[in-house]
Amino acid sequence: MEAKKRLYLGLLTFSLFLIAAVIWLAWYLIANRTMLVNQVLLVILVAGAILFLIIFALGIMAMVIMIIRSHTTPWQESVARVVNEWLFPVALLVGKLLRVDRDSILRSFISVNNYLVRSKKVKLPGEKVMILAPHCLQNSECPHKITIDVANCKQCGKCKIGELKQLAAQYDCKLRVVTGGTLARQAIKEQKPSAVVAIACERDLSLGIQDISVIPVLGIINCRPHGPCLNTDVDMGYVHNAMNFFSKGGR
Ligand code: SF4
Repeated sequence: MEAKKRLYLGLLTFSLFLIAAVIWLAWYLIANRTMLVNQVLLVILVAGAILFLIIFALGIMAMVIMIIRSHTTPWQESVARVVNEWLFPVALLVGKLLRVDRDSILRSFISVNNYLVRSKKVKLPGEKVMILAPHCLQNSECPHKITIDVANCKQCGKCKIGELKQLAAQYDCKLRVVTGGTLARQAIKEQKPSAVVAIACERDLSLGIQDISVIPVLGIINCRPHGPCLNTDVDMGYVHNAMNFFSKGGR
């Protein structure tokens, strides 16, 4: 078996044992609760579980408060970020059990993220912002290598890359066209922007937002008139609006 598969399966098995061990410990402590040491352990176990629940509840409350007030504080952001990371897979799992469309959940997540970002006052010069666009926005018949350097785009008008290039020049911000999440992460690592305007499908956007949770990301879902990953499109109004937000530090 390849090392990568072994690692993942090993971690899954370990998680299973861990859950089984916690359940067994809880059962053992309840069954033998007459012993003082067991009573103390049981209290610690229950207190730990309650603490987790409180943190999760606080995180969800923090998000709701931030949305209602359209304002954030550092502690609310930190708790919301932790809870988002932990509960995001759970929300997807529950959604699957309830047969809620996955893309609808991801769109909702992106919408909440955008709202939270917009409730901060993030005023940045253009060069601190990066627009990340997916390669599938490029016209599939275009011969120019824009993933290497977007300057290679001739702005012929056959796809939105030309307009994005123009917009990036207008705001003096960085523009990168990437072929996937790995290259998007690499672009962020290299350029170190303070904020990102990311264009992608629901799946890539939500994963990206989760991945780079330390900097604000405004996500814009692309349009896919020809199906996924081919000659996709984007509403430039949203991109203008996102750049305007970061340049003015307000809605
Ligand atoms: S706008 Fe740029 S990327 Fe799009 S087809 Fe024309 S030259 Fe190619």
